[in-house]
Amino acid sequence: MTARLIAARELAPDICHFEFESAEWPLDFAPGQFVSLTKDGITRAYSVASPPSLTPDLKTGSGRFALCANLVQDGKFSPFLFGMKPGDEVDFKGPLGTFALRRPAADSLFVATGTGIAPFRSMLHAPPDRKITLIFGVRHPHSLLYHDELQALADRNPDFIYQPTLTRPPEDWTGKTGRVQQHTFDALGDRQDLDIYICGMKEMVDDLRAQLKARGYDRKRIIYEKYD
Ligand SMILES: Cc1cc2nc3c(=O)[nH]c(=O)nc-3n(C[C@H](O)[C@H](O)[C@H](O)COP(=O)(O)OP(=O)(O)OC[C@H]3O[C@@H](n4cnc5c(N)ncnc54)[C@H](O)[C@@H]3O)c2cc1C
Repeated sequence: MTARLIAARELAPDICHFEFESAEWPLDFAPGQFVSLTKDGITRAYSVASPPSLTPDLKTGSGRFALCANLVQDGKFSPFLFGMKPGDEVDFKGPLGTFALRRPAADSLFVATGTGIAPFRSMLHAPPDRKITLIFGVRHPHSLLYHDELQALADRNPDFIYQPTLTRPPEDWTGKTGRVQQHTFDALGDRQDLDIYICGMKEMVDDLRAQLKARGYDRKRIIYEKYD
């Protein structure tokens, strides 16, 4: 299947939001799923950062999906993605994967670092059918991807709590600081009945899972996606 790049915009240094369209993109998919893109025999997975579009583009009949990706300077694939211009095409497969909201709905913690926010943006677009706390960790304020959007969502929905945390906070930062792991345990308190969704790089995901396991947390309630 082929997708055409419609637009790209910088969200933070070396991080872009890419909008694609494809006549083969399904209108419905489970928020949280990913696509795999292939160029010159190299395939990489990217979480879909947009919600299901439900209606095709009226002019082209195509569906649209968005990705949020990090440029890995000497990476094999992401430099190609960042070099794409509107109108350029790429082969893809998807939607794929099982990182999706569980049913029946249980109150949930979403834990993301960096571009790991992508699948949660897709999941959060429809009004949540459960109480959700999102703990989003990055180094600097400018790397809080989709910050205004997430803050606006939290402002109008009492069932959604947004907790950004910075590991390199500037002096005037009044929000949370430090790694997502500690804030996850603070948000969890004594509860054992929350579904915990984790997405980001391997080190964070493995570390948080190990800490949850050490505290005897039910592993069936830990749902995760690792980026490397
Ligand atoms: C299911 C799944 C979903 C993914 N979704 C996304 C996504 O939504 N956005 C995204 O940017 N990446 C995502 N990735 C990672 C992506 O597939 C690539 O690994 C990444 O773009 C680097 O590819 P590359 O060929 O440029 O680098 P490679 O030549 O493969 O070099 C790998 C290096 O890149 C590092 N790396 C991998 N991913 C990232 C990242 N996101 N940020 C910084 N360093 C990274 C690895 O640790 C390793 O050091 C996902 C991976 C999986 C398995």
